Amino acid sequence: MSVLRDIGARDAAIQLRGVGKTFGSNTVLKGVDLDIERSERVCVIGPSGSGKSTLLRCMVFLETYDEGEIYVEGRLLGYSISDGTRKKDSEVQTANVRRNVGMVFQQFNLWPHMTALGNVIAALRIVKGMTRAEAEKIGREALETVGLAHKADAYPDRLSGGQQQRVAIARALAMNPSILLFDEPTSALDPELVGEVLEVMRQLASQGMTMVVVTHEMGFAAEVADRVIFMDGGSIVEAGPPQRLFSKPESPRLAQFLDTWK
Ligand code: ADP
Ligand code: MG
Repeated sequence: MSVLRDIGARDAAIQLRGVGKTFGSNTVLKGVDLDIERSERVCVIGPSGSGKSTLLRCMVFLETYDEGEIYVEGRLLGYSISDGTRKKDSEVQTANVRRNVGMVFQQFNLWPHMTALGNVIAALRIVKGMTRAEAEKIGREALETVGLAHKADAYPDRLSGGQQQRVAIARALAMNPSILLFDEPTSALDPELVGEVLEVMRQLASQGMTMVVVTHEMGFAAEVADRVIFMDGGSIVEAGPPQRLFSKPESPRLAQFLDTWK
């Protein structure tokens, strides 16, 4: 019912209300509440297995959630509610709700048989039905934004890991998202290639992109995030501005986690 589909606040980018997720007997998200405002930059930190990737994947419905609600720009994601029960939306309906959300993964997942430009424009052609000329114009602009206009015709195996990840960011940008989610975008990179990817992300942040970034780059989080969220055991244990969180952690678990990253 449309009334129930749209009870989220329209000025919020993403809202999570009591979101729960279980794999078999493993409860991975335990009633997560979270509001992400437009243009807000949120970094998510926490130990391996704490549910960070699952949280992000639920926000684009790459993973279903079992409990609670997720609203993307005010619209319920993945489900419709009628007579108090919820049923899964069709893929088309779900795609429509998450249209403005892009995602960048740790593994860049570029097609090896396509050039950088080919990778960036594939979804524009297939999902948005653009002509080659229209798609290439937007694709070249996106490559320009990540500093790779000169690599448009290069195949992924001729690009460094950092360049491949920047192509993956360009691919997400080409879809013109208002929200970008990043899941450990620099964790698969050699240390000397991390900086160029973070630089592109810094630039996007300065342009007002709404960003949720799972990362172990504490320096980046300290510099760019409006808010840092610490997850442990499927819950948000602590959240706040990076200056406060990093210098005066309230929970022993966060203090201990930060110690391991010093
Ligand atoms: P993080 O990103 O913080 O390392 P994840 O969200 O990847 O954590 O994983 C949280 C928990 O969920 C882990 O115990 C993991 O084994 C489990 N998990 C994640 N994805 C799946 C899946 N597709 N099937 C079963 N268990 C999963
Ligand atoms: Mg993860």
